[in-house]
Amino acid sequence: MFAAFCLSCVAAATLANRDPLQYRLTYSGGDRVSVEIRVPDSAPAPATFIMPRAIPMGYGEQYYDRFVRDLQTGRREEGPRWKLDGSRRITYSVDVRAMEREIHAASDSSKLRDGYAGLLGYSIFGFVEGRENDPIVLTIAAPEGWQVLSTLAPRGGPLRAANFYELADSQVAMGPRMAVEKAPGKIPLYLALYAERELDRARLLRLASEAMERVADYFGGAPFPHYTVHFEVLKPLSPEHRYGFSMEHLNSGTFYLSPEDIAEDGRTRYNLAHHFAHSWIPKRSYGTGYFPFRWELAPVLDSIWFAEGFGQYAAAAALFPDDSARQQLLNNRFRNWLKQAPAFLRDMRLDELSFIGSTRYSEDFRVGRTLFSRGALMAAEMDELIREQTNGARSLRDALRHLIAWSAREKRAWRIEELPAIFRQATGVDTKPVLDQWLAGTP
Ligand SMILES: [Zn+2]
Repeated sequence: MFAAFCLSCVAAATLANRDPLQYRLTYSGGDRVSVEIRVPDSAPAPATFIMPRAIPMGYGEQYYDRFVRDLQTGRREEGPRWKLDGSRRITYSVDVRAMEREIHAASDSSKLRDGYAGLLGYSIFGFVEGRENDPIVLTIAAPEGWQVLSTLAPRGGPLRAANFYELADSQVAMGPRMAVEKAPGKIPLYLALYAERELDRARLLRLASEAMERVADYFGGAPFPHYTVHFEVLKPLSPEHRYGFSMEHLNSGTFYLSPEDIAEDGRTRYNLAHHFAHSWIPKRSYGTGYFPFRWELAPVLDSIWFAEGFGQYAAAAALFPDDSARQQLLNNRFRNWLKQAPAFLRDMRLDELSFIGSTRYSEDFRVGRTLFSRGALMAAEMDELIREQTNGARSLRDALRHLIAWSAREKRAWRIEELPAIFRQATGVDTKPVLDQWLAGTP
């Protein structure tokens, strides 16, 4: 089950005969981190270096190229590109302090503090054009005595990524002020915590491992060998800085929450489960545009309602198998919003709204909320229909497990119109009328 679902394992197997690119990340104090990339002799000489401007599932853009300094073997070109002089060694540094000053969304910026560095792969690592699919070996140098955690291998050992996407979607946390904990359980779950305020670490770890167990059970196994909850409790740098959003990755989640945000067990478990579920949907089963990912311009996606809505519904179904508790959550989180949402957001076609959400999901959060609410309620209606027509023998869970297996096998994005046939194979139930109705508007 593990191997069959492992996107990166498949990629690693097919690329095993390619020599890896060597990335070295160095932090030795101060405002910057430095990166060195070595391109193997077996590959063509590198011609163009590119820094990401788009974030997988970020539904927007951040111009990380603005914080790159001292890239001496390249000449700046239009966009986030540098024309390289052919040298196989590319070095640059990233001004992380400036990044955090200028990017106000916590989930989009790396952080440096006294005794701590929290680094998001896509904000510090760039790639050589044409080598995006090559395997990567990462080494990290930190100040003397600092512990280092990479979400590529939180238990330690060699740091390997199957491709640039996997490196960019990983995080590095380090420093004496970081705490690392491991939860017992079927799936090795790590907590990398940096907290500027008091927080009950044991409780957070317990809630995370409960949420992970339920979500993995729902999907019938985990597609990753380990998972890291990278959790930062930050005092705002300025009134403009925004916290409270979290971000999901292939094998990890980055969370920027306050002790107040996680005061209630139930809400916290749901928040964690929601982001965990994204490691399946859409990270390993996705509509057009999610993967392969386009790094220079945010992709325009027609299925954000699925990624966000079905992902959240899966978390709800995993945590609340009991129907009345689940209905209460659906009411509080989704139906209540749709009752008060502006009519044009309720009535707009869902694929069209998804195009808008591709860059303005959280900028105007009415867009994001409408997308995930309509998607989750579509999922709920499909779940109900499947249970009804099969006398409880099947549910949406079977359809989603089948879809994830389909994605692992086909290794491509599905198109919206393919969903009903895939769901029918797993359940025997035709969900197309429900899909069509919710795509057209809010019933
Ligand atoms: Zn989400």
